[in-house]
Amino acid sequence: MGQFFNKSCDEVFSELKSSANGLSQKEANFRLDKFGKNAILESKEKSTFLIFLEQFKDLLVIILIIAAVISLFFDSLESAVVIIAVIIFNAILGTVQNVKAKKSLKSLKSLSAPIAKVIRDGKIVKLPADLVVPGDVVVQESGDIVVADGRIIENYMMQVNESALTGESEIVKKTSDVIMKERIPIGDKTNMVFSGSFVTYGHALVMVTATGMNTEIGKIATLMNKTGSKKTTLQISLDNFSKKLAMIIMIICILVFLLHWIKDTSKPFDALMFAVAMAVAAIPEALSSLVTIVQAIGTQRMVKHNAIIKELKAVETLGCVSVICSDKTGTLTQNKMTVQSIYCDGKIFSDDEVNLDDYATKSLINIGVLVNDSTLNGHDSIGDPTEVALIEFARKLGIDENIIRQDTPRVSEIPFDSDRKMMSSANDVGDSFVLLTKGALDVLIPRLSYFMTNDGIRNITKEDVDQILKVNEKFTSSGLRVLCMAIKNIDHKDITLEDEDNYVFVGLIAMVDPPRYEAKRAVEDAKRAGIRSIMITGDHKITAVAIAKQLGIFGEGDLAITGEYLDSISDYDLRKIVDKISVYARVSPEHKIRIVSAWQESGHVVAMTGDGVNDAPALKKADIGVAMGITGTEVAKDASDMILTDDNYSTIVKAVENGRNVYENIRNSVRFLISGNTAAILVVLYTALIPGLTAPFIAVQLLFINLITDSLPALAIGMEKSRHDLLNKPPRSVKESILNKNTLKEIGVQGFIIALFTMFAYYLGWNGGNFPELAMTMAFATITIARLFHGFNCRGEKDIVTLGVFSNIYCIIALILGLVLLFVVLFVPFFMNIFDTVNISWAELGWILVLSFFPTFIVQIYKMIKNSIGLKN
Ligand code: ATP
Repeated sequence: MGQFFNKSCDEVFSELKSSANGLSQKEANFRLDKFGKNAILESKEKSTFLIFLEQFKDLLVIILIIAAVISLFFDSLESAVVIIAVIIFNAILGTVQNVKAKKSLKSLKSLSAPIAKVIRDGKIVKLPADLVVPGDVVVQESGDIVVADGRIIENYMMQVNESALTGESEIVKKTSDVIMKERIPIGDKTNMVFSGSFVTYGHALVMVTATGMNTEIGKIATLMNKTGSKKTTLQISLDNFSKKLAMIIMIICILVFLLHWIKDTSKPFDALMFAVAMAVAAIPEALSSLVTIVQAIGTQRMVKHNAIIKELKAVETLGCVSVICSDKTGTLTQNKMTVQSIYCDGKIFSDDEVNLDDYATKSLINIGVLVNDSTLNGHDSIGDPTEVALIEFARKLGIDENIIRQDTPRVSEIPFDSDRKMMSSANDVGDSFVLLTKGALDVLIPRLSYFMTNDGIRNITKEDVDQILKVNEKFTSSGLRVLCMAIKNIDHKDITLEDEDNYVFVGLIAMVDPPRYEAKRAVEDAKRAGIRSIMITGDHKITAVAIAKQLGIFGEGDLAITGEYLDSISDYDLRKIVDKISVYARVSPEHKIRIVSAWQESGHVVAMTGDGVNDAPALKKADIGVAMGITGTEVAKDASDMILTDDNYSTIVKAVENGRNVYENIRNSVRFLISGNTAAILVVLYTALIPGLTAPFIAVQLLFINLITDSLPALAIGMEKSRHDLLNKPPRSVKESILNKNTLKEIGVQGFIIALFTMFAYYLGWNGGNFPELAMTMAFATITIARLFHGFNCRGEKDIVTLGVFSNIYCIIALILGLVLLFVVLFVPFFMNIFDTVNISWAELGWILVLSFFPTFIVQIYKMIKNSIGLKN
């Protein structure tokens, strides 16, 4: 057990007395040094060296090593050394990228790390959970993840889910030392909470007994491998593609070797060099690391747009989202509630007509203040906006909530939760107790027996109920949220669910929560992008529909259903109508899982928002679980794939757009790399087939293009900013391959055009077979520059004029850098020696530039024509 568990109860109590104010910050710092951070050390991380070694496991790298060995024996030592140097350089690059991607994931993780509420120096402070130390007093409430092992010192009906530890999902009720007041039987853990579990109900003060690896979960953590940096679907599919490619390359190499040999049996060495050049030309060395980098850049961009992605995988899935199920309050609306009207003693009053001299009115306002956990300090409010609105309203009427709360102290409570849709509090009124309740009218109406008027209390009549319902409809149809207030006398302190009956109806309070301005636009954007927006709310159906109409979510022919109706239909029936339902009202978090399943079973990719503990299963079930960063519980954040730091619906749509952009950029980069390689393959194949021609490139030259000059535009394409027109298309299917038929066709055609002009340059240099070295230099320079220019072709579907030549400055930098590097290889004698290049004249350089520009020119003209006549890919 932890550092404190073995102490006797008396010791714990004496420590408790002295720690009513929590630890001092100084003491906490001392303990942090002594016990270390409250973190589970994840199982052994791979060392950088191991990551480096892993880079050599790649089949493609193995082919390159074979090429180096062949060069060593048959060509020159220099080529072999350069190939090995390039392989090592590539491995270093791969390692750096790998380590960087890990770091960036870690920093994302720390952005979404749990927060603990700790009492330090007598004040509640919010801290990253890893700074909690043994002896800290932590406030744990519904929705919190238990941050460390500890003893419960004050308990308010806390219930905990310990499934992470025990594997059992049953909710465990907790007791506290204060209630037991005596030595706790050994083995009884009901007064303990354990790190990794989460609070599902109530709240408690917990004194931390063990942190980090000393916790129960810490002890078993070594058995689990939590790191597991899983590859994304895209990486897996590209890896598979690379494997297939390697096989095909080997077959083609053997073929090229044989062809060349048959062509000229006297020169087996030349044939071998052809085969080696072929292998090097075809291998897209930079592919795998490119995907990771582009995805990492994408996630970093999303952080700036208020969305924290927890796994790289989510970026890919985001681009496929076709349905977004969103909570209403706070996500689609502003969560700034203001009381607008009240109803009591049979009359409606607007907020400025309220008269506190009326008995019923005063009772109504007082209940709103007493069954209320929020506080207001100046302009700062802490608590549920619904409750804050009630306090603000009371203050506007001149009521000081603190005085009322002191005069009528709360003695027990049943907290609000979205399933119950109500909250009760028992308060001491001097000689007896009252039970005060506020909640949704439909939940309270069957429990009403009496009616409060300004003259007293009488039995409730059918006419009263009819009128209450009519007033409720009037409020809700204009989008107002309605709370019902009720009261009853009780003769005991501790209330239970059975007490919540036979109430006196006091009145209704209606508040406005305006829709978010940006949400309306985001719903429109989503619609254009083929994405359905669905509202899921605990609020009243009519309120929900009114808001959904204002936002454009609810249109002609759409359906709105309630949780009750949902309960009455089967999953099969739900699936049949799911695409017609735009609004789900009065639903509990448990319903969300059925809604997600119904959409998923009809082939959709679903993003679902959530903030409460009970939302966690639906967040996990959804393809993209979206947690609220501001109002969300730690449990919801833990279960989600993405956290919105601004709780805003429009951020989800923006994230989808970003997800689409990342995918688009990766596809364009892949298209760029493979079409360039295709060009080289075609040139090598052609020269292998035509008698008399020598190899157009040596392996080192191709490595230079593939690994150095080509990587630059590929990365630059990966940085292409998101364009709004990405939302003009329907979502892509998850099953869609990144290299579909159209893309492969395009790759083939573009590769062919580059190859054509490269051969032109080759023949110019060849000059009837007199200058094979010049032919090689011309071909090498032309294909390198042509591929650098080709980067502009692959920036997007549109032509470069429409995209803007300078709108992606990285592409310009890549072109300039690539040219500088190439000129070094062409003109610096030391490098000319290594790369087997020969002197070229100004005229030849002019030809090279013109010929390498042509393929891009042709592709651009084609794109312009295609776009102007509206042809699709
Ligand atoms: P969403 O699910 O979109 O966030 P919501 O916030 O309206 O919607 P809940 O918080 O589950 O959903 O509230 C459901 C109903 O419970 C509300 O319509 C209201 O009548 C009632 N309610 C909300 N907050 C409180 C509260 N603090 N105390 C008592 N009743 C409440």
